[in-house]
Amino acid sequence: MSNTIAIPQSMLPEDGRFGSGPSKIRGEQVDALAAGATTLLGTSHRQTPVRQVVASIREGLASFFRLPEGYEIALGNGGASAFWDMACASLIARRAAFGTYGSFSAKFAASAASAPFLESPVIFEGDPGTYRLPEYVDGVDAYCWAHNETSTGVAAPVRRVAGSLGQGALTLVDGTSAAGALPVDVSQTDAYYFSPQKAFGSDGGLWVAVLSPAAIERAASVEQGAKLDGARRWVPPFLSLTSAVANSRKDQTLNTPAVATLIMLENQVRWLNDNGGLDWASARCARSASILYDWAERSAYANPFVTDPGARSHSVVTIDLDDAIDANRVVSALRDNGIVDTSGYRKLGRNQLRIGVFPSVEPSDVTALTQCVDYVVERLGD
Ligand SMILES: *Cc1c(COP(=O)(O)O)cnc(C)c1O
Repeated sequence: MSNTIAIPQSMLPEDGRFGSGPSKIRGEQVDALAAGATTLLGTSHRQTPVRQVVASIREGLASFFRLPEGYEIALGNGGASAFWDMACASLIARRAAFGTYGSFSAKFAASAASAPFLESPVIFEGDPGTYRLPEYVDGVDAYCWAHNETSTGVAAPVRRVAGSLGQGALTLVDGTSAAGALPVDVSQTDAYYFSPQKAFGSDGGLWVAVLSPAAIERAASVEQGAKLDGARRWVPPFLSLTSAVANSRKDQTLNTPAVATLIMLENQVRWLNDNGGLDWASARCARSASILYDWAERSAYANPFVTDPGARSHSVVTIDLDDAIDANRVVSALRDNGIVDTSGYRKLGRNQLRIGVFPSVEPSDVTALTQCVDYVVERLGD
């Protein structure tokens, strides 16, 4: 092992958090916690002050996503992972089709495959570093994929599968590491769902979903069917999308939420909207991402992992390093200098850096990061 490499103070980014989730939380979000120290924290989520926070989140996201007529913002506890199981319990009627191209997109497909009351899903599998969208299949009632595959840094298009509306199928898109960072037309989806600890820079534990009227109707009919024939399907109360929607309409959640997560999310949504909304946020992320991709392409020892420039994520950037340079050592030298969470997704198993460039990250800090990586790599052999 080499000795610790000390990066000169003047080269360091102002903020060293580059995680892909949890991600950087801005100081103003933490200030918002302090501001609510006695009026919000430790108070009931069923009373006006906290419900106003939830109302502001729902209104702010409606404007951020330019909500189409009839669409609603719902939220509940459990994160995107819980939403997968909620979708299995109360959105997929019989059979779903999935595009899978990495850990996160595959996990939802695995949930559906293990639900005893659903038919085996149809899986369209792509190699890591690419995306694969589900294709039209007779008898499928839900098409599912991830807007941004966080394990590989791949961004996929969000548009309905041709013919899917005609067959009455829903489109369920995991927007967890994309929502707030990548452009999206939510009218191409029936559920665009995410957790707030990525682009929204809050803490984990919550799921948020942009829902179409068709999704809300589907949940009602699936859950009604389960009531009539409980032998065929069980919808645990916690996984009832209908209950979640009923609570969300009252600016509440089914069970007790982390109030701190709500406060930080509310502050971020307002910050994004005040700065220019999704157009501003996505342009800022695109700029940060291009700083990294351009640097890697110029570099003698680094390369973007995703070969198709059109599939390169603007929120989670994956950079392969030459085998001669051990990415683990680079990551740990960066951590010694306060630059954290730059390692690749463990299960992908590549000699790689993975960098979250969500809206909270300053593009100038991304530039500083590239210089710090160069500095460390030049000294690794010493
Ligand atoms: C992080 C992530 C998840 C899981 O979110 P949790 O809040 O941990 O449940 C799901 N999908 C994608 C694309 C993610 O990036």
